[in-house]
Amino acid sequence: MSEKIAKKDSLYYIDLENHYGAHNYHPLPVVLEKGDGVYVWDVEGKKYYDFLSAYSAVNQGHSHPKIVSAMIAQAQQLSLTSRAFYNNKLGEFEKKITNLLGFDKVLPMNSGAEAVETAVKLARKWSYEIKGIPENTAKIVVCENNFHGRTTTIVSFSNDSDANKNYGPFTPGFLKIPYNDLLALEELLKSDAENIAAFLVEPIQGEAGVYVPDNGYLKGVSELCKKYNILFIADEVQTGIARTGKMIACQHEEVQPDILVLGKALSGGMYPVSAVLANNEIMNVIKPGQHGSTFGGNPLACAVSMAALDVVIDENLADNAERLGIIFRKEIEKLMAETQLIAKVRGKGLLNAIIINDSPESSTAWNICLKLRDNGLLAKPTHGNIIRFAPPLVMTEEQLMDCVAIIKKTILEY
Ligand SMILES: *Cc1c(COP(=O)(O)O)cnc(C)c1O
Repeated sequence: MSEKIAKKDSLYYIDLENHYGAHNYHPLPVVLEKGDGVYVWDVEGKKYYDFLSAYSAVNQGHSHPKIVSAMIAQAQQLSLTSRAFYNNKLGEFEKKITNLLGFDKVLPMNSGAEAVETAVKLARKWSYEIKGIPENTAKIVVCENNFHGRTTTIVSFSNDSDANKNYGPFTPGFLKIPYNDLLALEELLKSDAENIAAFLVEPIQGEAGVYVPDNGYLKGVSELCKKYNILFIADEVQTGIARTGKMIACQHEEVQPDILVLGKALSGGMYPVSAVLANNEIMNVIKPGQHGSTFGGNPLACAVSMAALDVVIDENLADNAERLGIIFRKEIEKLMAETQLIAKVRGKGLLNAIIINDSPESSTAWNICLKLRDNGLLAKPTHGNIIRFAPPLVMTEEQLMDCVAIIKKTILEY
């Protein structure tokens, strides 16, 4: 080998992905090779604040030492048995997460989309076997501009044309109503509750652009679902695991969904782990052979996830997210007094977004993200003119103020 071979640079890796990979994403041009806590480094050695956290999967920070050691120890011991046999980690994980969140039972899966699929199947089965809806006719109510994942059934009830165009024929049985609209929900339930199994909703719409519903929305949803005997399914894949300042966002309004869907930060970003939680009268409708996954509930996933939950609890990440989120939004509001570029800031805990004062078709938000990158902070636009800000929850106040300074400088120089 010649010593003249240069260290491979960002362009090399970007070209590789462009050439050999499917073009199903449009990444910001930065190639990362290392992460630690709130920081990531690119292949040229430049250091950045991660202000996206892999869409809230890395709430515990990159390569958290406790999660890394749990992962290594378990990988050396036993990684996968399938559910053909019992293993000595699954039960402990199940006990921990159900006690933590107040449910009788959990069904472990891998990706968020799989967990949503599981919740849909569970709600349908419950509606036929317990509620008594005639077989194969149950409907599930969802919201406009939802994001619940990418499977064929889930994109069937998306209204984002990128997500579902030319992927049909679609799975029937879903009704769409506006988000944050209790009247629309009640109208629908009044006329059709006997044919409806469940209402599936994100407590804050993440991908849509961090839409926080009015105070009382989740409480109202919970009450309406009880009144009309339909299941309240909360998709907390993005909002769960302390992101919004509580272990799950539903706790802001002290409501307990009938079915809770978790993913992303459930493993601290180390490994795909998702879960569906419910009480016995719902979960017991699924019997042996009626649902499953080769990797779901594997010992490696369980060990990693138990460590990831311990970190959230031991380090008080929910309180930190709540406190820093208030500071962050206050600082951005101050910045808004100095510029016309930001139309709005919104969010809860450390799940926030700014709306750029330009049309959703403009490239302004993208160009701002490129400048933020140049200044050492990584974030990504969602739906054109919205930039989501979701740093790891292990961030300190000093680091947050450092990030605020980068954002201010970038916006004011733009
Ligand atoms: C990311 C996300 C999903 C899908 O999770 P995957 O692991 O990407 O399949 C589902 N629901 C919500 C609310 C999400 O943010």
